[in-house]
Amino acid sequence: MEISIKNDFDFFSVFPSDEACIQYLEHKRWNGKPKCPSCGNSKDNWFITTRKVYKCSDCRKQFSVIQGTIFQSSKIGLRSWFYSIFLLTTYPGYPSTRLAKRIGVQQRTAWLMLQKIRETMRDENSKKVLSGIVECDEAYLGSKPRRDLRLQKRMTEYKRDNDREYEHLKAAFGIIDRYSSQIVIRKFGWNRNCLTTDIALHLLKKHVTTISTVNTDEHPSYFRIPQHFHSHHVIRKNRFVNRTRKNGTTYKTRVTSYVDGKTHVNGIENVWKHLQDMEKAVYKQFSYKHAQRYFDEFSFRWNRRTASFGNLLVEVIDNALDKVITYGELAKWNNEVQTNAWLN
Ligand SMILES: [Zn+2]
Repeated sequence: MEISIKNDFDFFSVFPSDEACIQYLEHKRWNGKPKCPSCGNSKDNWFITTRKVYKCSDCRKQFSVIQGTIFQSSKIGLRSWFYSIFLLTTYPGYPSTRLAKRIGVQQRTAWLMLQKIRETMRDENSKKVLSGIVECDEAYLGSKPRRDLRLQKRMTEYKRDNDREYEHLKAAFGIIDRYSSQIVIRKFGWNRNCLTTDIALHLLKKHVTTISTVNTDEHPSYFRIPQHFHSHHVIRKNRFVNRTRKNGTTYKTRVTSYVDGKTHVNGIENVWKHLQDMEKAVYKQFSYKHAQRYFDEFSFRWNRRTASFGNLLVEVIDNALDKVITYGELAKWNNEVQTNAWLN
């Protein structure tokens, strides 16, 4: 169902009230015939006016249109939800503190709403397959604090207690299709040592077809690519060459190059610049634990940067209809660092 929204004024004329949003959702999910989510019955269900819910004529359970969606058991009005989706998909990121003031809720409520909306964008990023000429590269967001002695102490204790390094960096692995500019960004670890040949190959096999040409830099973890893909082009950014002085003696010097014919990774470097700008300018920082959600949000917007505001809103609402997400699932620390669960 198409809705034409070009700006904020259009949004409020299409969705003037919570009732308009409920009507829109009912039309989208049921098309005029309310369907019970428990038993699937869509015949003779009636509306209880005082409670504003439907009652099933078969199993006698009460249900509403937000049951089984990410809006389930939320006390926030549906128009606030839609407006949050509208803001998150049209701005380059939207912080929970600002959203809280915009729609009049607490910051922690706004944070939960935004994380649930980001979760609807996850599938797109984790299942996307690119082909043709692709570039891949890795980036590290955040900085390692060196002069803060208290934090250094905490980092040492953390390493001792958890047998791994403190999460000061968010390591992202990105792939871009050079002609369609579609991207995939995946979190793969917490420091520079985390990119192994296995992880690099796993992510490339998952997101790139085998007939593709892969451009990378000279990172040693990419050396197994030629065995699995059509071709592998390496741009050697840092090279050491021997040169001769006038008096005949030789010396070694470093040569930096970023492009060699059609071999380069500048497309994905451009993506990293935008991603780092989003973190610095909009969110200031995001945690290692939730980093993948922010990558999903970023790549969702990037891959649809020519789409209209209305289409973005409709697509997120579509994805939100068959998911139920709880705070517990979002906030739990499921030890994914040890189990490599984030790679699936
Ligand atoms: Zn029923």
